[in-house]
Amino acid sequence: MSEGAPKKDEKPRKFQAIRGTRDLLPPETALWNRVERTAHEVFGTFGFGEIRPPIFEPTELFARAVGGETDIVSKEMYTFSNPTSLAAMVPEGRTEGTLAEMLPEAEMISLRPEATASVCRAYIEHNMQQLPQPVKLYYMGPMFRRERPQKGRYRQFYQIGAEVLGGSDAPAIDAEVIEMVMTFFDRLELQGVQLDINSIGHSADNCRRGYVEKLKAALENVKDKLGPDSQRRIETNPLRVLDSKLESEQGSIATLPHIADHLCEACATHYSAVKHQLEMRGVIYRENWRLVRGLDYYMRTTFEITAQGLGSQNAVCGGGRYDGLVELLGGPPTKGIGFAIGEDRLILSLQESGKAPAQQGRDVYIAWMGERAHATAIRAAKDLRKAGFSVELPPVEQKFGKALGQADKLGAKYALILGDNEVSEGLWTLKTLADGSQEKYTEADLLDRLRKGKALSS
Ligand code: ATP
Ligand code: MG
Repeated sequence: MSEGAPKKDEKPRKFQAIRGTRDLLPPETALWNRVERTAHEVFGTFGFGEIRPPIFEPTELFARAVGGETDIVSKEMYTFSNPTSLAAMVPEGRTEGTLAEMLPEAEMISLRPEATASVCRAYIEHNMQQLPQPVKLYYMGPMFRRERPQKGRYRQFYQIGAEVLGGSDAPAIDAEVIEMVMTFFDRLELQGVQLDINSIGHSADNCRRGYVEKLKAALENVKDKLGPDSQRRIETNPLRVLDSKLESEQGSIATLPHIADHLCEACATHYSAVKHQLEMRGVIYRENWRLVRGLDYYMRTTFEITAQGLGSQNAVCGGGRYDGLVELLGGPPTKGIGFAIGEDRLILSLQESGKAPAQQGRDVYIAWMGERAHATAIRAAKDLRKAGFSVELPPVEQKFGKALGQADKLGAKYALILGDNEVSEGLWTLKTLADGSQEKYTEADLLDRLRKGKALSS
């Protein structure tokens, strides 16, 4: 007996998905597939190719890229040691202790909390700077963050994202990336879409650093009106105070200096050109001076998109420019901009606004009786499936009444009735379940009839 098996008379444990994770089930998965198919299509029309990086990477990659002081890296990552060669690494004679104690040399690895770091790592690893620039990549898949689970916030969640790496930092690139997300949302008929943009300058003295000093000074002046979190952030990360949703702090925050008034000339010019480029593309935006992003790598353009029906977790997309990131990871100086869409929230919003497709029933349920009919039913199922119909073929014989009831429960459009009479006459009975009408067809006519019905309904 294996170690995990229950002892005799012991009730086996009833397992449940781990807190913050969940099963995605039909019919909802049909909507997930539609969303992902649309992403492949739309991103393809903008010249993006798909990258599928691994789900875990060295912890250090995320620490360096996302930033050691960010919430993501300091408290949200799933990190463990990677015992590459167990035998070689366990100190001699050591038999007890946790893995981390036994394998002090093992590299620490983390489940990815986001994918931009991986895409940049891949760009460097595969010398993509030698390809025609810029390189345009998109990805989709699960991300992992140890956050407090709630509506629209999970520990395993899904992102669809894209990155433009290399080439220039032309404002038209920022605008086109934003246009692409908006086109995607538009194609999905996402409701209540609101795009907020901002520029957070770059880290030089006469730009963001200068602004942060002014912001700190202004925050000191209103410190006693702020809550403990914001008070602490005045020292650790003053920009994040602007993110605060605390009602009691809003009055004080409104009096703080705006970064747009403190950008260096190059950043100010870049920002106004991005806005102009968005207008040329007919993309409607709102300037939001309080939009700062929680990841260290952002500079200049930042943006966030919200949608309806999501309560306080209403951000469905966050993105921005990150020109220094590839270099920070040991690559050549490289421009970069990208975004990540929260797919779970996107799906929630589509469901809330009734944009989710109804459950997809079967096209045809084959009700058969008798050995000869079974052989014919198997052949009919094969032909119908080949023609693209969804077919349910019961594995064992059923009385016709029971079969029709079953067809109804499965939401089938038609029941194909095959008994010995039908088979010997060569005339098959097709019952339309919505109105109960019944007609007889030859095998060839039946396929035609179904094809026409399908063309009409789609
Ligand atoms: P938030 O402020 O909502 O926590 P964030 O700034 O942490 O978002 P990003 O790291 O920019 O988010 O990720 C981009 C998008 O991924 C978010 O806009 C959101 O839609 C989604 N997202 C982030 N964290 C989660 C999560 N734990 N569960 C579900 N979706 C998430
Ligand atoms: Mg977050």
